Amino acid sequence: MGDINIAIWQANDVGQTVKTIIELGYAPRLEKSTGTHIANIDFVAFEEDSEAGCMGLEEMCQRYRDGRLQMIVIPIQNYIAQSMFVTESIARGVDANVFFLASRIESNTFTEEQLYSFLTPLMQAKYLPYLEFHIADHCNLNCKACEHYSGLVHEEIFTNYEKFERDLHRLHEFIDDIGYIRILGGEPLLNPEITKYIKLIKDLYPKAAHVVVTNGLKLLSMPDEFYDVVRETNTYIWMSYYPPVQNKRDAIEAKLREKGVEYGISELNTEFTMKQVLKPMEGLGHFYHCMQAHCNNLYDGKIAACFLPFTTKYFNAEFAQNLPEDGALDLYEEAMSTERIQRHLFTPFERCRYCSDHSVPVPWEVMQEPSVLSDWVREI
Ligand code: SF4
Ligand code: SF4
Repeated sequence: MGDINIAIWQANDVGQTVKTIIELGYAPRLEKSTGTHIANIDFVAFEEDSEAGCMGLEEMCQRYRDGRLQMIVIPIQNYIAQSMFVTESIARGVDANVFFLASRIESNTFTEEQLYSFLTPLMQAKYLPYLEFHIADHCNLNCKACEHYSGLVHEEIFTNYEKFERDLHRLHEFIDDIGYIRILGGEPLLNPEITKYIKLIKDLYPKAAHVVVTNGLKLLSMPDEFYDVVRETNTYIWMSYYPPVQNKRDAIEAKLREKGVEYGISELNTEFTMKQVLKPMEGLGHFYHCMQAHCNNLYDGKIAACFLPFTTKYFNAEFAQNLPEDGALDLYEEAMSTERIQRHLFTPFERCRYCSDHSVPVPWEVMQEPSVLSDWVREI
């Protein structure tokens, strides 16, 4: 089969270990079974870093287009910006079939079978770097320009736990490992069953990092049972910090410390960005540069690259609009497969036409009733 060259995503410790395993374990077996010889292994990052020994993304894509690069390896444990690296490469002409996922490194020894299967084509890998899901569509803060349109949800809309449990098991048939799982909304702490969701994702995806994303308004009044489950499951609390919580911040931090849970707090949000438009964009290429395209969302038995296929219904209903509500893949379709899910999550859809490729900053404000289009759309 001849010689091939490989690039590994990031030259950190994980990347270096993956390189060693490929050189010493995978390469000899690949050569023996297929005659393919791995001639060269380099590292890649978004920007060239000669100190770390990394080429930049542009150079990597150029090598691929010139036929000097045949395989791009993504170590599972290099979660950060993993799928953005893939979409930015696809945007520059790299074929999705060139990406391979390196298995999690969990011990110093590998079986023969583990070495043979150390690299899996990304499009067939039962793995997602990130998944998020709502457990409440409504919110107790109702920010203007909330990307999930939570302020336009005028009644309590909680996810049905039993249905969600079935849906997550269905997803698990095709995706059995996830990097980060975030429980959010709306405001997830409004859901009285939140601990059931935390335990469920811990049971089904024990290797994932589990995070609850909250605006913090309810953190002081959550019952002890909530904090016990958060602590016992090593769940991380991430508080998006808004002006109405400023006077409670010290008390919240004291409570989180007292309860012994891991937490982080964002910078104070005094500005949001807005990118929704009503005049459709001509192309769909901006999908590959969209940050939210990596916010893979599970909702009502369907999965989508981002949350908008599921929440656009609230915008359409409020303002009698007809924005596309496409982009979701029904996990219960016949002939569902891991590859179908993977390819779907890397494919733009019609709803993307209503997201501009340029966001504009808008001051953070609470929405007033009745809401107006300019609360959500940058050009009317
Ligand atoms: S706190 Fe978050 S979910 Fe709630 S309205 Fe604001 S941005 Fe949306
Ligand atoms: S609809 Fe498409 S462009 Fe808009 S946020 Fe989602 S993935 Fe990005």
